[in-house]
Order: sequence, then structure tokens, then C-alpha cells
Amino acid sequence: MPASLTRNLITGGAGFVGSHLVDRLMQAGEEVICLDNYFTGRKANIAQWIGHPRFELIRHDVTEPIKLEVDRIWHLACPASPVHYQFNPIKTAKTSFLGTYNMLGLARRVGARLLLASTSEVYGDPEEHPQPESYRGSVNTIGIRSCYDEGKRIAETLCFDYRRMHGSEIRVARIFNTYGPRMLPDDGRVVSNFIMQALRGDPLTLYGGGRQTRSFCFVDDLVEGLIRLMNGSHTGPVNIGNPAEFTIKQLAELVRDRINPSLVFVDHPLPQDDPLQRQPVIDLASAELGWVPTVPLEHGLEPTIAYFRELLAR
Ligand code: NAD
Ligand code: UDP
Repeated sequence: MPASLTRNLITGGAGFVGSHLVDRLMQAGEEVICLDNYFTGRKANIAQWIGHPRFELIRHDVTEPIKLEVDRIWHLACPASPVHYQFNPIKTAKTSFLGTYNMLGLARRVGARLLLASTSEVYGDPEEHPQPESYRGSVNTIGIRSCYDEGKRIAETLCFDYRRMHGSEIRVARIFNTYGPRMLPDDGRVVSNFIMQALRGDPLTLYGGGRQTRSFCFVDDLVEGLIRLMNGSHTGPVNIGNPAEFTIKQLAELVRDRINPSLVFVDHPLPQDDPLQRQPVIDLASAELGWVPTVPLEHGLEPTIAYFRELLAR
């Protein structure tokens, strides 16, 4: 009898990160079920696999239970950009809580391992810098980012309670700002905003003067980290991010210099609860997963710009 293939369920598989993960697992010869409600995901992201015998596509909302036979659940379903998660914040909170609850229930029923795509947002506007996994965070429970931040915090809690109560096999990744091809051009995130603005010849919008910092991880590096976490024995939470820290103004300069050095910057107010600094400590990922990012921002911007350029040309 041939050895059976690993059956993967990727929730949010038609989204930005999820679709790159679909590619990697399909290229590795595994079985993939991509589940998505297409809120921010697009069929175009996974169109290359439609019709492949190891690939299935299911339109489903994770706030509803589903029965499937799988070995691994990569639970990524959740809007990630502030513009999208604030569009219907109650739905975002439901997606995080009920979605994770339903996927943990499925994992328990079939004995699957579940990886949760958590976020650096669990650290809120951090008072400790850079942020190790031991930092417990500074999150406003009632602000406009809370539906997402608190949603991910309760999702992490659910994972660990399922582990304590039922012995569920869980993995929790705290993902820091990630960028790359297949981000949505209108998702309001800073990398896509700046690139689209620059390609259109518009001023680059610096919120709060662009003095706040972020650490940007290229999507291929992130996916490699997620795969190592899923395959390894460490439960997490583990930070997956690129520790190179940039001010938003520095990012704007990098994008401007690559696309059109004559562009100007325009100031906008800093949105409520927008974290002033963010940088991961990745010692744990390095020690437990043997993972470090390999793509510097200057390099990762090139294929990202090329992707948006092609999108605009279509
Ligand atoms: P994305 O918005 O591109 O992808 C999310 C996917 O989930 C989309 O395909 C969307 O349609 C789907 N989805 C949303 N709600 C759903 C629901 N109720 N039922 C079924 N599908 C649903 O975002 P992304 O950047 O690919 O993020 C993927 C995951 O990684 C998210 O959980 C996000 O919180 C996490 N994350 C991402 C980043 C980042 O910088 N990209 C940072 C931290 C954490
Ligand atoms: N930002 C900005 N201009 C933009 C979009 C975003 O200055 O056009 C800032 C935003 O205020 C935040 C940072 O860039 O401080 C990163 O924003 P993003 O939405 O990409 O991610 P998050 O805030 O969730 O880390």
C-alpha cells in the first residue's frame, strides 16, 4: 500500500499568506484543502491549483462548524489589515473566537495538529522593546484595534485550554508585519499603500509623521517559519518576524527611491491605538526551529513592487 499523504486544511488559504502556504505544501507533494469565505481572499491566488488531484477548494465561513478528515489544520482565516478587520469588528471578533473554537473542535475530533496564526498585535502598543514571547502586552480592550488584538489573544487562550483539557496538539505563531506579492492593493497596509501610491505617482501618506517603527518580514520567510513550527515539537507561542526595525518614514523612502524619487510625502494623523514601535525578539524561533529570516526588506520590496506593477498594468 502506498504511504498516505499528509492531509492539510488551510483556513484562509485564498488570502495573502495562506496562498503562499498552499503553494509550498502543494509543491511538497501533500494534500491541501483550502477553505475560505473570500472576504479578503481571492480565487486568483490559488487558481494555479484548481483541478489538481491533491487540491480541494471549499467556500466556508469558519464561524460555522465543519466536518472534514485532516491531519493538520493551518488556521489562518481572519482579516489582517486594520481597514479590513475594522470594516465589521463584531464579525472579526467572531471569526477569531468562534473560528478558532470550531477549528479546535475539528482538530480534537479527528486528532489533527492545529497551528494558529496569531499576531504581534497581542503585544498591543508595547511598553517593552523589542518584544520577547514572555512580554504580556499592553492592549486597549475597548479601542478600534481591540476586535483583532483581543480576538487573537482569546484565540491563543482557547488553544492552550484545549491543550490542557484535551491534550490537543497545538502550535501558536505570533506573526509580525509580513509583506510580499498577493497583498491586496487596497488593503490599507503600509507596504501596499506606499507601493500603490508611488506607482500611481501620488504622495506617500505618512501617518503620525512616520516616526513609528515596524519590522517587515518577507512572506517566503514567514511561510518557512510556519512550516518549521508545524513540523517541530515546540508549541509556542513563538515570534515569527524579521527583527530589522524601520521607521515608517524609512520604509517610505525605500519605496520612493525604487519607484519615483521625485515623489513627496504627506502627513496624516496617527490612527487611534496605532503602536509606536514593534520589533520581534526571535531567539526562540532561532533556538527551537532553527529559523531566521533570510530576505532583507531592500530585497523583498523588489518582487512586491513587480507584483503591484503588473497588477496595475492589467
Ligand atoms: P488576508 O486577509 O490576506 O487573509 C485572510 C484570509 O482569511 C482571507 O482569504 C479571507 O477571505 C479569509 N477569511 C477571513 N475571515 C474568514 C472567515 N470567517 N471564514 C473563512 N475565511 C475567512 O490576511 P493575511 O495577511 O494572509 O493573514 C493571514 C493570517 O495571518 C491572519 O490570521 C492574520 O491575522 C495573520 N497575521 C498576518 C500578518 C501579516 O502581516 N500579514 C501579521 C500577523 C498575523
Ligand atoms: N501607515 C502609514 N501610512 C499608510 C498606511 C499605514 O503611515 O498609508 C502606518 C500605520 O499608521 C502603522 C504602520 O504604517 O503605524 C503599519 O501599518 P499597517 O496597517 O501596515 O500595519 P499594523 O499597524 O497593523 O502594524
